[in-house]
Amino acid sequence: MIESQPLISVIVPCFNEEDGIAMCHERLSAVLSGITEAYEIIYVDDGSRDRTAELLRSFHQADPRVVVLRFSRNFGHQPAVSAGLDAVRGQAVVIIDADLQDPPELIPSMLELWRKDYQVVYGVRVNREGETGFKLWSAKMFYRIINSLSDVEIPLDTGDFRLMDQAIVSAFRQMPERHRLLRGMSSWIGFNQIGLHYERSARFAGTTKYPLRKMLGLALDGIVSFSTIPLRLVTIMGFAAALLAFIGIVYSLVVRLVTHSWVQGWAISFIGMLFMSGTQMLCLGVLGEYVGRIYTESKQRPLYLLREVLRSSQPRP
Ligand code: UDP
Ligand code: MG
Repeated sequence: MIESQPLISVIVPCFNEEDGIAMCHERLSAVLSGITEAYEIIYVDDGSRDRTAELLRSFHQADPRVVVLRFSRNFGHQPAVSAGLDAVRGQAVVIIDADLQDPPELIPSMLELWRKDYQVVYGVRVNREGETGFKLWSAKMFYRIINSLSDVEIPLDTGDFRLMDQAIVSAFRQMPERHRLLRGMSSWIGFNQIGLHYERSARFAGTTKYPLRKMLGLALDGIVSFSTIPLRLVTIMGFAAALLAFIGIVYSLVVRLVTHSWVQGWAISFIGMLFMSGTQMLCLGVLGEYVGRIYTESKQRPLYLLREVLRSSQPRP
């Protein structure tokens, strides 16, 4: 059997990227054609309300290696990448943003490391041009908080720009959780991982699609899905309340037994109140530990819904 070239898949999540997507497609296609003929580009249109879908359709018509998945509405960046991961067929899979902040020209170096038996090659941003001081600060705090709260270590200054082997992709497909932070899940999966440094440039066109609200959501997902420490804090609070109650109990007993400054029935109601509220807090904390775990898994909703799939049945290998 003739050994065929490995297929390279590239996933590009797009949300209202009409200004930059053509340039992105051009640069990406140029880089990929320079490496191999065997590639596919999967554009995921995350419910864009501008001309993005139209442009993506024209890319697909011009090149059968372009696959387009369209969401029924805006589901978010992480579900968009997940949809791409569900659809890819390549042996090596690259995730890249549509705004050209991550240079497609890095893909050949990533592939080289992949051939040297690294299953994940993640981009590490050395400098981040064109981003506000607040964004840089909040991103730094984000990684610091997640890493101090959770069991997995997410490498500093990484985003979702990365190359992954098909083994990693199939591991992703086995992780059905609803709230996802791909870069954290990718660390959790293991295998051989390596960072590749690069300069992150400013957005090629358009504005950021990650306003503060979405960034906070991503941060919360990261913390909650990789750590149960917030729930544990409630339990610790319960213990603290119970301890305070205990001190109060000793105090009121001393006042009751040793001094004369007490009112009839005062001690027992004080003791009762402190004891009950302390134990209630403790129980709430313990319950919270369980409810939190059940809640995240119980809804079982699909991560995204597709409105349209453009994929040629006979792709050029
Ligand atoms: N994106 C998406 N859905 C969203 C928000 C963003 O698919 O709800 C895409 C966006 O089109 C881009 C990538 O995710 O390709 C990263 O978004 P952006 O560049 O706005 O984030 P930033 O680089 O500012 O963190
Ligand atoms: Mg960007």
